[in-house]
Amino acid sequence: MPTPLIVRKRAEMRNLILTNRASGKRIGFVPTMGSLHQGHTSLVEHATAECDDVITSIFVNPSQFGPDEDYKEYPRDLHADVHLLAQHGVRWVFAPDVQEMFPPGDSTRVEVSGPAKPYEGTLRPGHFSGVATVVLRLLQSAPAHKIYFGAKDWQQILVVRQMVRDLGVDVEVVTCPTVRDKDGLAMSSRNTYLSETDREQALTIYSSLQQAKKHWCNGIAINKIEKDLKTMLSAKKIQIEYADIVDAESLQKIPESNPSTPAIILIACRVGSTRLIDNLLLPSQTLSSC
Ligand code: AMP
Repeated sequence: MPTPLIVRKRAEMRNLILTNRASGKRIGFVPTMGSLHQGHTSLVEHATAECDDVITSIFVNPSQFGPDEDYKEYPRDLHADVHLLAQHGVRWVFAPDVQEMFPPGDSTRVEVSGPAKPYEGTLRPGHFSGVATVVLRLLQSAPAHKIYFGAKDWQQILVVRQMVRDLGVDVEVVTCPTVRDKDGLAMSSRNTYLSETDREQALTIYSSLQQAKKHWCNGIAINKIEKDLKTMLSAKKIQIEYADIVDAESLQKIPESNPSTPAIILIACRVGSTRLIDNLLLPSQTLSSC
């Protein structure tokens, strides 16, 4: 497959997309921070299946990292990423530098609320404002028909959907399933930080999600499931930031009287010094898939 064209400038990117749209092409957009793995390429595969041309952005967005977070250490390898994307038929790689996305004197941010408030919003103040700001700027540069996100970052999807609705952004947001390693660990660029022992410990995240799902389907009370989930994680010395079962859309607690609400288990924790997030959508207890 041909090597994708690497585009560095917002205006050039926009012209390319608009020209291709004008000739009737359907454009799919997969925004990433690079250090790509099969989770990312699965989004590209969804986009290629549904669109004529695919653009992937690679941009480690400083505005979504807190002052004590890993912006500097975040793994970067543009060459390897472009090579991988070439194998998946991506046409354009948009890889702007920080000054291009946030020019000197830049002072505009998207203010977010609603689904951006709890969980990651509380623990990582400013994170979702940074995400929403960069997604909006990326979409201005690459006005695609569809934009693809992974369910792994569930709250991020809710925040982006809300922004797209509220600001009337003309794009369809597509959610793709979480891709896991064979052992169940959700793929993440940050998994490269894990030592062998950390990785071993981290497997409990997936097994605890599976156990919780089983208990959910057996009709066990939510409080009890959450308690067992936390016990299982703590037993492996995993530091829990949250491990809750909530309404998958509102992220609010589910009243015990209404277990048919679409629900999700959300987990954020530290394994060694690495912060990991994961989640699992829960089937309705009335369905046979439960
Ligand atoms: P990131 O590079 O971490 O910002 O992620 C870019 C996109 O890839 C986001 O939409 C993520 O949700 C998605 N993504 C990351 N890891 C996975 C995974 N394991 N499975 C599916 N999508 C993923």
